[in-house]
Order: sequence, then structure tokens, then C-alpha cells
Amino acid sequence: MAKSIISIDMGGTKVLGCIVNSKEGIVSRVKVPTDQNSSGAEYIDALATVVNEVIDESGHDEKKIVAVCLGVAGSVNPSTGVIALAPNLGLKDFNMKEALQKKIEVPILIENDVNLAALGIKNFEVGKKAKNMLAVFVGTGIGGGLIINKKIYRGSSFTAGEIGHVLVNKNGPVCGCGKRGCFEAIASRTAVVDQIINDIKSGKKSSLASYVKSGEKIKSKILSAAVNDGDKVAMKRVAKSCEVIGGVLAGLTNFMNFDMIVIGGGMIEQLKEFMLPKIEMAFNEHVLKAAAKDLEIATSELGGNAAIWGGISLAEEFLDVKV
Ligand SMILES: [Zn+2]
Repeated sequence: MAKSIISIDMGGTKVLGCIVNSKEGIVSRVKVPTDQNSSGAEYIDALATVVNEVIDESGHDEKKIVAVCLGVAGSVNPSTGVIALAPNLGLKDFNMKEALQKKIEVPILIENDVNLAALGIKNFEVGKKAKNMLAVFVGTGIGGGLIINKKIYRGSSFTAGEIGHVLVNKNGPVCGCGKRGCFEAIASRTAVVDQIINDIKSGKKSSLASYVKSGEKIKSKILSAAVNDGDKVAMKRVAKSCEVIGGVLAGLTNFMNFDMIVIGGGMIEQLKEFMLPKIEMAFNEHVLKAAAKDLEIATSELGGNAAIWGGISLAEEFLDVKV
């Protein structure tokens, strides 16, 4: 095995750890379940377990591991390792890097998971030739990562790219952030599903009615099946979300003059053929011609692995190591 890093995706319900390098890709992976109510110390234990297990599992020499890169959903300062806020993990002002470094010898790096995904797409997939790129992920929420002059743009206090909380309609539904009418409260899969549930409850006929009755969660795959089967309620709501997504991306392109927008996330992966043309149509309607002159809209196939790949770029940026 070539020199590698361990790249970790830390979610509320599981920790995924992979050994990865740019030559061989992902060579080993281990998943450990976590409890969303875990304390900082419990997360640290889970992370240390993942690091040890993924090394054991691969059977590779641990001396080949030059860094551990951790992706977290929240605002993270990668220089200090402090997580200012990670609502899904229940963590606030927690120096995860310092705490984990006490248990693991190799250098630890930490970054926002969407930034890592943007870096992965930029450096190892469709974004290779992009200079100014926006990566957007539509799923449970809507996340964004910004690449400016080929580098990740983190903002003044590490919250740049929070596209999901751009205001779309001040009279819209309340968002997870507590404000009203945010982009993700209107156009994410969660929002679309809520709208469909309301439609069904108000008497509209839909093949998804059985899920509403049983209370089973409508995930992207189920939503996609309903759209592909021609379910009118589902089609209408997803199409509406595409209009909003296209409009917001056009506005941001007018503002930033990107050369590439990469769209990904669970909802897009499942509904690409239906959604992409509609997003592009709304985009073209709202974008200034000059702002989109050199723009390419692409989709990513990396899915959940994008952030894993992005760890390689983080190690290069902060430790000056190439793996
Ligand atoms: Zn919000």
C-alpha cells in the first residue's frame, strides 16, 4: 500500500473510516454506529475505535498512515480543530482535534464535511479543471462548498458555503436553523416530502399515501420511484423544488461568476434525469448571460465518498504531504 491517510466521515448515527490515497483510491473501510446523544468523549472513543479497526482490517502497515482527516457537519476551524457548532452531533465549542490527538499518534486534521466533499470533487473528479466552483448537495438539507481560485473558501468565521440558509421566501416554513423561508426549508428532500405529506393529508391522491399512513420515512429512493411512476403530487413538488434550486444557483452565479457548479446529494443522485433539465431551465431563465458565459453545470458520482477523497487535499494543505 502506498502512503495513505485515514479519512473519516462523522455523522450523527455512524462514523465511517476509510484508508485512502490518490493512487489506489479507497483501499479499506469500516463503519461504527454512534448514538446521536453521545458526549464529546464518547465520540472520541468511537473515532479512536474506527482508526484502529480500519488499520487492522486493511492489514497494512500503520506507518504508511500519515494523517487522520475528520469531516464534521458543522462550523469547524481547521487550524485550531475547534468545532464551534455541530447541531447534528450535539457539539458546541469543542476542540475535537486536541481531544483525539491524545489517543492517536498521527497528525489529526478536521474540516467541515461539505468543504471536504467540495475538495474531493474539485481535485479528484469532475471539478479538476474548475477555478471557481460551487458544489451543492441536495438531500436532508442543502449544503454548499465554495472553491475560489482553486482553493476552498472558508469565510471569516468558517461558515462560508451555507447555501441552505439563503433566504428564498420570508413567509416560507420555519427552517432547522430557526429562521423562516430558507432555501433548504423549501427545496430540500425533507421539505419536498413535507409538502407531499401535506398534499396527501389535504386529500390529494398519491401513491405515497401508504407511507404517510404507516409513518415510514419517505427517502430519496422512494420519492424517485413515485416520480418515475408518474405520481402527479410527487412530480409537481419535485419540479417546484427544481425551479427554486435553479433560481438560487442563478442568483449565486450572477454574484460569483463561477466556471463550474457541481450538483450532488441523495435527492439528485436518485432523481437526476428528472431534476437536472428542470434545474437548468430555471437557471437559464434567471442567470445573466455574461455571468454564465464560461459556466458548466455537472453532477458528481462520488456520493458519500467525495468527503473521503477531500481528506487527501486537506492533508496536503495543512501538512504539506501528498498521498
Ligand atoms: Zn435556515
